[in-house]
Amino acid sequence: MPGPAARWGEVTFQAIAPGIWLHSEYADPPGVGPTRSNGLIVEAGDHSILVDTAWNDAQTGSIVEWAEASLHRPVAAAIVTHAHHDKMGGIAALRSAGIRTFANRLTNADAPKRGLLPADVSLDFDSGGWLTAESARAAEPLGAIRPYFPGAGHTRDNIVVGVADGAVLFGGCLIRPSDAQSLGNTSDGDIAHWGIAARAAGAAFPNATVVIPSHGDIAGRDLIELTARLALAAQAPR
Ligand SMILES: [Zn+2]
Repeated sequence: MPGPAARWGEVTFQAIAPGIWLHSEYADPPGVGPTRSNGLIVEAGDHSILVDTAWNDAQTGSIVEWAEASLHRPVAAAIVTHAHHDKMGGIAALRSAGIRTFANRLTNADAPKRGLLPADVSLDFDSGGWLTAESARAAEPLGAIRPYFPGAGHTRDNIVVGVADGAVLFGGCLIRPSDAQSLGNTSDGDIAHWGIAARAAGAAFPNATVVIPSHGDIAGRDLIELTARLALAAQAPR
C-alpha cells in the first residue's frame, strides 16, 4: 500500500511496495494544462534503478539527488519507456551524472525527431516482446527490471516494465489511469493496436497486482481492460 510521500525540489516520492518508489512531477504543456507524470525508483542493493526521467533536467536532477542523499542508493542505471518529454526529457541530467541510460531501439530512433536526446543503449526485442539474448546481456545494469515491448499503442515504441518479480507492472503512457475518459495524447499513437498492446502487457505479467500508469494513481489490473475499452471506443465511428 502507498506510504507517506516525500518531496525533493519539484519531485514527490511515494513508497508503493518494499524497495519501490513512485516519482511524480508536473509540467504545464501548452494547450494541455498541468499534467502529472510518474516513474519508478527501484532499490537494488546499495544502488537504485530509475524507470523514466522526469519532464526536464532540473526535475530529473532532483531525483538523482534524492536517491543519493535520502535513499542512500545512488541511481546506477535508467530505462525510459518511450520517446516523449514526460518519459525522457531529463536524459541529459542522467548523462552528466554518469548514469547509463537504456531504451527501445525505436525510442532512440524517434527521440531526435522530437527534440529529445537518445538513451546510451538501444535495446532490441524478439517477436514475443522480450529482450533478445544480446540485449538482455547489454541490459545487465538494469538488474531485475524486466522490460517488455507489447507493440504500438500510445507510441510505436512504448515499452512497459515489470518489477518485483512481475508483481508490479509499470505501464507508462500505454496504460490509462482509472479516471481516464479517453486515451489522452494520441498524436503519435496507433489506436487500432492500442488495446491489443495493453492486453499483451497484462498477459506478459500475469502476476502483476499493482499497475502503474504515467498520468494518475497506482491501481490494479483493471487499468488494462479500462485501456482496452477506451481504445475500442476511440476506434468506433462517431
Ligand atoms: Zn507519451
